[in-house]
Parts: sequence; C-alpha cells; structure tokens
Amino acid sequence: MIDHERLVELDRRHLWHPFTQMQGWLDDDPLIIERGEGAYLFDTRGRRYLDGVSSLWVNVHGHRKAEIDEAVRAQLDRVAHTTLLGLSSVPAIELAERLASVAPPGLSRVFYSDSGSTAVEIAVKIAFQCWKQRGRPSKRQFLALGEAYHGDTIGSVSLGGMDLFHGIFQPLLFPVLRAPEPYCYRCPLSRRPEECEMACAREAERLIEAHAGELAAVVVEPIVQGAAGMIVQPPGWLRRVWDACRAHDVLFIADEVAVGFGRTGTLFACEQEGVVPDLLCLAKGITGGYLPLAATLATESVFEAFLGAYESDRTFFHGHTYTGNPLACAAAIASLDLLEAEKTVEQVEPAAERLAAGLAPLGDHPHVGEIRQRGLMVGIELVADRKTRAPFPRPLRMGHRAILEARRRGVILRPLSDVVVLMPPLCLSGAQIDELAAVTVASIEAATTGA
Ligand SMILES: *Cc1c(COP(=O)(O)O)cnc(C)c1O
Repeated sequence: MIDHERLVELDRRHLWHPFTQMQGWLDDDPLIIERGEGAYLFDTRGRRYLDGVSSLWVNVHGHRKAEIDEAVRAQLDRVAHTTLLGLSSVPAIELAERLASVAPPGLSRVFYSDSGSTAVEIAVKIAFQCWKQRGRPSKRQFLALGEAYHGDTIGSVSLGGMDLFHGIFQPLLFPVLRAPEPYCYRCPLSRRPEECEMACAREAERLIEAHAGELAAVVVEPIVQGAAGMIVQPPGWLRRVWDACRAHDVLFIADEVAVGFGRTGTLFACEQEGVVPDLLCLAKGITGGYLPLAATLATESVFEAFLGAYESDRTFFHGHTYTGNPLACAAAIASLDLLEAEKTVEQVEPAAERLAAGLAPLGDHPHVGEIRQRGLMVGIELVADRKTRAPFPRPLRMGHRAILEARRRGVILRPLSDVVVLMPPLCLSGAQIDELAAVTVASIEAATTGA
C-alpha cells in the first residue's frame, strides 16, 4: 500500500524541485506520480491524468510501451552500463548508425551525452575547437536568438536569452551576439507581419555577414522556439538564416532537443525548410522518453578538423561518465523502430488538425492573445487584455492557475509563464486529443473568469 501522506511529508522535507519556487511548493498539495500507462499517468491516490506535456516533452509512444520495455529488459540481461571512453558497446554502435541514417544528409558522426544541455554544450565546444584547428582561431563567437533557451549548464545558459532564467547568471557567462527572435505577436523590432518583410531574418543575415570573421556558429531551435513560449517561426525564416551561414562560412547548430523526433510533423524540424545543419543536438524524445540520453551529430567536415597524430592535441577532450549508456541506447533503438513500424510521424499532421479544431473555441476568447501551433507543439498565450496584448500581473500566476484547473479535470500540463503549453505524446488517440482540447478550453475559461 502506498502511504501518500508519508511521501508528501518526505518530499517536503528532502526534495528540491527544478524550476520551482520551493516556498510555494511547501504550501501546495503535491501530485505524486506512481505509474503510467499509454498516454496516462496515475498518482499515489489512484487518480488518472492525461500526460498533456509528454512528461516534459520527452514521451513519444506513451508510457510502458511494450516494445521499449522489452528492449531495455533485454539489454539489462546483457549489461546495464559500460564506458565509451576507450571501449565501444553494441547498442551505442547500432544507434549511431540508425541516427545517421535518419538525420539530414551528411550528419554521420554521433557524439553521445545525457541531456539536452550537454548536447548543446558539446556542439558549442566542437564548433569553437573546430575553427581553431581549421586555422581560423578568430572565429570563436556565437550568435543566438532573443528569448533563446538551450539548457541550464553555463555554456548553454550563455546562449540563452531569457532574462527570467538567465539574467542572474550574467557575470558567469560568455558574451553572445543576439539576433531578434521571430516572435510576431510581440515583435522585438516593433514591426507588423503584414509589412515587415521578415525584418528579423534580415537583421540576422546582417549580423552574420558583419561578424562572419568572428562567428564560429549560429545556434537556433528550428521552426519552434519551445521554452521561449512556443514561438513559431514564419515560413522561410529558418532557411534564410541557414543560407546566410553557408554564404559566410559560419557553422549552423540546430538545437532539436525539443522539436526533434516528430513533434512538429517531420522527424526533424530542419527538414521542413530543407536545412542541413553542421551540428544537430538531440535529446528529450530520443529514447521515446524512457532514459536520459543525448546526441550531438556532426558532419565529416567538422569531424575531420579533430583528426591528427596522438600528440597533436586535436582530440576533443570531452565526455561524460554515462555517455552512450547501453540501456538508454537500447531504448532509443526501440523507439526508432516504433517510429518506423507505426508510421508515427505521418499521424502527427492529422492529430494536429484535430487538436487545433478542438482549441478553436479559444480563438476569440477575451484572455487568449494568440494560439501558436506547429504539429503537436502548442502554446496558448494568456493576456489580461486582448486588444492591448497587456500581460497579466505576474503575481496572479495565470498560467499556473490554468494548469491547476486542468489537473482538477484530469490533465497534466505545465505552463511557461502565461503560455499554456500542450505537447502530448505522439501516440494520442482521437478521443484523447479531444479530451486534451476540451479540458484545456474549460480550464482557461475557469482560470480567467473574473480576471
Ligand atoms: C529542454 C531543452 C534543452 C535542455 O535539455 P535538458 O535535457 O533539460 O538539459 C535544450 N534545448 C532545448 C531546445 C530544450 O527544449
């Protein structure tokens, strides 16, 4: 028997939750998950919830997916962990080949780590060292977007452009060139989409051209800037930035930690604009949401800059202890098998249309500023005033209120400030999509009534 009260007591006494103001947490009644099944999670009181954010954007095929369970168990019967430092392992090799075969063409080298932050950190270090060893050491700067989020380690925080998360650490960070985020609803250039001719892309192109001699790489989340509030890039934006990189000999790093593995309707978001990055960062969905694993994929051209005699010190001196963990690699292979066998990605577009239809009643809601969606990534921006686009006062915690309403109605969501995020597992049935949409509409209605 699960003693819920005892767990609550111990949670309050010992846990420090990520991205959480623990003072408020101690007053809340925590929801403690005990198990999962398909798209649902069950808490310690036996209550069932639809997992509306894929357990923080990782789950793809649902919880306790038989094929992935089986693959991890089979690997457990062989070995749970061995190192890639000086040795290799069967699942790490098999997965590397599989990733290279599904990634955009030319990304044939796989460097493993264990989180999205490290995948990006590694891409940054590779790009930096690559230019040094290509004989162009002045190319050592990075360009990232306003509102960018690339993880929580110091290197990836340096790329970050979200004041709320990153501001306090400023003195610890390396300086980064900043291009305007293509956030049409709140344009940082104060332009309107009808007349701007994508001034934000023009500005990114200008920065890339002007700083080509110092720029090692441009780092972007393709198609959707997730943690920024599900900012969907206007069509053509990504392609223009990539074209500028190619024209000016600047590496292009695609952070597909959130958008990868089908979320936006293609296996990788870059595909939608025919973009082929020099470095591709993968994590979150890579194992189907089972185990921590990440991969930074590189082209042979980047890789070759690291080759040399043992004593040349052209080695990439980086590696985490659990790099390429065999259990995680086995889960990732099983997840790729499922993506193929179940044609999961092909089902994203019809599912996305159904979800959009279910959310349509929010289209003219007085407290919904904008609904942004690409594939099964959705952000619903709540505002105090639809006309002026004025946000709610922060202490109201309107996004949080909305997700508490959803929780009462049996759906787990997590907001980004006042943007209500939906990012369900790709395996959702039609009925489950309808449930997610109906609960979201009712919850936003309930939270904002009287606001
Ligand atoms: C979540 C995320 C990261 C960081 O991944 P972690 O596994 O949390 O370190 C990096 N980039 C993007 C785009 C993300 O969404």
